[in-house]
Amino acid sequence: MIREANTDFAITIVGGGIHGVHLAVRLLEADMVDLQSLAIIDPTGLLEAFRRKCEQCGMAELRSPYVHHVDTDPFSLRDFARARGREDELVPSTVGAERPTTSLFFDHAGWVCDRYDLESALVNARVTAVDPGSQSVEIETTVGRYCTEYCLLATGHGGSFTFPAWATDLLSTEAVTHVWDTGFAPESIGQEATVGIVGGSITAAQLATTLAQPGREVVLFARSPFRVEALEASTDWMHFTGVGKKLQEHPPASRVREELVAKARYDGTMPPYVFRRLKRALERQSIELERSDISVATEAGGTVVVTCQDGSAFCLDKLICATGFGSPYESDLFQQHRQESTLQTGYRGAPALEDETLRWLHQDGTPSRISVSGVGAQQVLGPFARNVIGARRAGELIVDSLEANLELESQRAKV
Ligand SMILES: Cc1cc2nc3c(=O)[nH]c(=O)nc-3n(C[C@H](O)[C@H](O)[C@H](O)COP(=O)(O)OP(=O)(O)OC[C@H]3O[C@@H](n4cnc5c(N)ncnc54)[C@H](O)[C@@H]3O)c2cc1C
Repeated sequence: MIREANTDFAITIVGGGIHGVHLAVRLLEADMVDLQSLAIIDPTGLLEAFRRKCEQCGMAELRSPYVHHVDTDPFSLRDFARARGREDELVPSTVGAERPTTSLFFDHAGWVCDRYDLESALVNARVTAVDPGSQSVEIETTVGRYCTEYCLLATGHGGSFTFPAWATDLLSTEAVTHVWDTGFAPESIGQEATVGIVGGSITAAQLATTLAQPGREVVLFARSPFRVEALEASTDWMHFTGVGKKLQEHPPASRVREELVAKARYDGTMPPYVFRRLKRALERQSIELERSDISVATEAGGTVVVTCQDGSAFCLDKLICATGFGSPYESDLFQQHRQESTLQTGYRGAPALEDETLRWLHQDGTPSRISVSGVGAQQVLGPFARNVIGARRAGELIVDSLEANLELESQRAKV
C-alpha cells in the first residue's frame, strides 16, 4: 500500500468524473491506498459534470454497453439492475450487449461511490496548478496547497468547447449559448419558444428531439448529411493492446498519433436509435431542418436573427450551439506545462506519456509522478480513451505501474 510519507496524501486524483471515480475504485480495491490517504479533488462533486451533460442534451440511454461502468466487475451493473428488478432499463443495441438507461447508469455509479465511501475522499476545489517534483507532486487548489506522492489527472476536456466563428461575440448574450455551458438547462427553454440548434451529431440530435414538444418551434441547423454509427470508433480500438501498437510505433505526443486518433474517431455521428427518433420528428415536422451554413447571427432585444448562406433567415428566442468539445490540451492544467515545465509536451500541447504506464514524461524522458487518464491519454489508448472503457484500461495500466513502483521501492529499502 502506498502511504503518505511527508505528504498530505498518498494519491491525489484531480477530477471526480467517470475516470476519476473508476481510478479511485480500482486503487481501493487493489489495496494500493486507504481512504484516508486518497483525495479526489473536484469543484462539482463526484460524477456531477457528466450527469449534468447528460441532462443538458436530454440523453436517456448510454451509447455504450452495460459492461462499461465505474465498478471493476464487468457484470456489476447488470447484477445491480437484476437485484432491483430494473432489467427493463437495459435497452437493445445493434452492436454487443444492451445499453443502460442514464438513470440506471448513475444509480449504479452512485451505489459504487457509496460502497467505497468516495465522498469522504472528496475535496471540493478546483486545481489551478500541478508541479511535479522528484519525490512528490505539489497541487495548488482554490482552497489551498497539497503535497501528494502521486497525482492522477482525470479532468476530461476541462471545460473547453468549440463554437462557430459567428457565435464568438454572442455567447455572452442571453439568446445564444453552448449546450455544455454550465448555465444552460433544457428546462429553461420556454414552452412556446422558437429554438435553433446548431450541429448534426448525437448531441444536437438528442437535444433537438428532447426540445421538440407541442408549442415549440425547433430548427436544426445541420449543414452535412447525418452519419449513423453505433459507437464512436471501430470496436477494434476497444482491444487496446493490439491496436494501440498502431499508435505507439510513433513518437509520444506527436502529430501523427493525434491524426491517427482523429481519423479513427467517428466524430459527428449518431447511433441508429438517435437517428430513428430524429427521423420520426423530422417526418412529423416537429423539427425543421436547415441544411445551409449560418453566415450571420445578430442579437436584437433578447432574440437572435440568423441568416444562412442560402438566403433563408430565422428569428429565434434561443440559439444553442451543439458543436462539440475543444482540444483537451487547451485546459489550464495542460496549458501550464507548455512553457517552462519539467514535463514534456508535444503537438498542440499534448502530454508526452509513457505508453505502458500513462505517466507523464519529464523533459529528460524519465517518468514523473503524474499520470493521465481520459481524453488526455488518447495518443496512447486511442479513440476510446475518453470513454468508460478507456477509464477501465487506464485504471489497469495505472494500478499496475503503481504496484510495480511500490515493489521497486520496497526492494530498494531492503538493500
Ligand atoms: C453527453 C455525453 C454522453 C456520453 N455517453 C457516453 C457513453 O454512453 N459511453 C461512453 O463510454 N462514453 C460516453 N461519453 C464519453 C465519456 O465517457 C464521458 O465524457 C465521460 O464523462 C468522460 O469522463 P471523464 O472523467 O474523463 O470526464 P468528466 O466526466 O468531464 O469529468 C472530469 C471532471 O474533472 C473535473 N475537473 C476539470 N478540471 C478540473 C480542475 N482543474 N480541478 C479539479 N477538477 C477538475 C470536472 O469538474 C469533472 O467533474 C459521453 C460524453 C458525453 C458528453
